[in-house]
Amino acid sequence: MKSPLDKAHVITSKFGMRTLAGVTSMHNGIDLCPQDGKHPTDIVAVCDGTVTYKVSNLPDGHTGLNVSNNAAGNCIYYKTDDGYRIQYHHLKADSICVNVNQRVQAGDKIGVMGTTGKSTGVHLHYEIRNPAGNPVDPLPYLDNGLALPVVQRSKPILRNGNKGSDIKNMQELLLKAGFQLPRWGADGSFGEETLTALRAFQTAHKLVVDGICGPLTWGALGKFA
Ligand SMILES: [Zn+2]
Repeated sequence: MKSPLDKAHVITSKFGMRTLAGVTSMHNGIDLCPQDGKHPTDIVAVCDGTVTYKVSNLPDGHTGLNVSNNAAGNCIYYKTDDGYRIQYHHLKADSICVNVNQRVQAGDKIGVMGTTGKSTGVHLHYEIRNPAGNPVDPLPYLDNGLALPVVQRSKPILRNGNKGSDIKNMQELLLKAGFQLPRWGADGSFGEETLTALRAFQTAHKLVVDGICGPLTWGALGKFA
């Protein structure tokens, strides 16, 4: 199988049980971001198959974790020739360039990474269902014959709703860099105040202003350590 992205990427959330904003649930796929943090990023077919389902009319935007419907955002599903279903979620508005019943071949462009649906930042949710319809861990498929390397992050990627010592570390660096957290300070909890400060930091440092602390933002914050 090929990689679902056309350039090197990092895994920001693995398959399995996870806790987001205090709620533990099963994550049926893996979340991927480009290693260089730059967008737009093209999403490509991982193997040959036929498109079975598509949603493409949702507007761009961070719709958050409380979405009750359209959680997958703009999405595309296709069935591989051996009966597996490949699912891509959260694509950018109007970016999907294949239609239902269309044949796709490994490497064909499907659309562009986005943040529609139940999502707090630009990423690809990549999911594989076996012929029985059950989700399987995409990681081994990603590693097998992967066109591009999987790069494990050295610093965790942080987003709104996360808690812990890495958040506190990021908040302390934001404060040192001169960005205020007047209400909560460095409390180890990534909420709206931290999001506002992080976006201001990203704007000031000419980074992608996505409110997510990824490799490039960590690199810029590191200068204030
Ligand atoms: Zn996901």
